[in-house]
Amino acid sequence: MIAQRYATGVNNANKEVNFLSSPVVSSPLDTLAQLRKPLQNQPSQQAKKTLYKRAKAKYISNNLALKLKDLRSDLERSYFRTFGCASTLEQKGEKITGMYCNNRWCLVCNRIRTAKLIKGYMQPLSELNDPYFVTLTTPNVGEDELRDHIKYMTRTFTKIKDMHRKAKQPIKGLRKTECTHSKQRNNYNPHFHIIVEGKQTAQAIISQWVNRIEGANIEAQDMRPADENSIYELFKYFTKIQYKGGTNLKALDTIFQAMRGLRTFQPMGIKKVSEDVEEIHSEIYEEIEKREALWLWCEDDWIDTATGETLTGHSPTEAAKEIVKGFDAYKHKKPPRPPELSLNTKFYIKN
Ligand SMILES: [Zn+2]
Repeated sequence: MIAQRYATGVNNANKEVNFLSSPVVSSPLDTLAQLRKPLQNQPSQQAKKTLYKRAKAKYISNNLALKLKDLRSDLERSYFRTFGCASTLEQKGEKITGMYCNNRWCLVCNRIRTAKLIKGYMQPLSELNDPYFVTLTTPNVGEDELRDHIKYMTRTFTKIKDMHRKAKQPIKGLRKTECTHSKQRNNYNPHFHIIVEGKQTAQAIISQWVNRIEGANIEAQDMRPADENSIYELFKYFTKIQYKGGTNLKALDTIFQAMRGLRTFQPMGIKKVSEDVEEIHSEIYEEIEKREALWLWCEDDWIDTATGETLTGHSPTEAAKEIVKGFDAYKHKKPPRPPELSLNTKFYIKN
């Protein structure tokens, strides 16, 4: 009976799917969960792998977004949107379409974004002569200064870039902004990773950086010959979401707020690749069983709302459960202690 009702919903939906008012949203998810069973005709290994990894990302991402939303910061609505990211997938034949949130903290979107960036940037970066991987750092900063500090770093780098251009030795490569949080000092470490052409250019950038950035220390900067691995490294996450002893969500929120509206990647002398994940994104999966279906996310996998079949067979690994558990580590923080003791001592000692 319930399956029938879902089926009706799907038929209606197939005429014109509106993801924002999905016909099944009002149906009880737990009932759908009871219907779940594995797919009879399994997709090809490649399709299965992609979808399975997306399910894993979605499982962690949903849990992260829910917790971040509870902080009720200025990003609350954006965090909420991530909860709906790819929550409904519409399948027509071999094509699967979903709505994506395009947020920086979304692991589902990050997987799509990373694939897109690697596809667009790998070729031009691997064609650089004598490529170097440069890391530019500054002294750590507090929460209130973070956004302005990142802008200051960007402005400074732009000046260095202009100097090189005027000297007819333009910098060629790609710059990425990253930021991590120091639990020990409860402050932030924004930094740039740059793949750049030429050892001399790399050296010049570092010395100009140290001269211009207040308090920058030559020992804290780094350069090394770049290879394919370091190029891949560049496309990894922009901030860590998993920390030993638990994730400090407040710190993550601070980083995301500081980076709001700012780009992560800046190409120099090579063609720009958009960091955006399209809101409505379709993919063709060859060797997937052709069907018309509406797949609804239900805790840890998508379920065909008509048949109860699961799309990927994903169930969270212990490691993934551990990451999700880590999101709660700071939830029951005691009221503020005197400043000298305000480090998260308890969690720190544990590690
Ligand atoms: Zn997303």
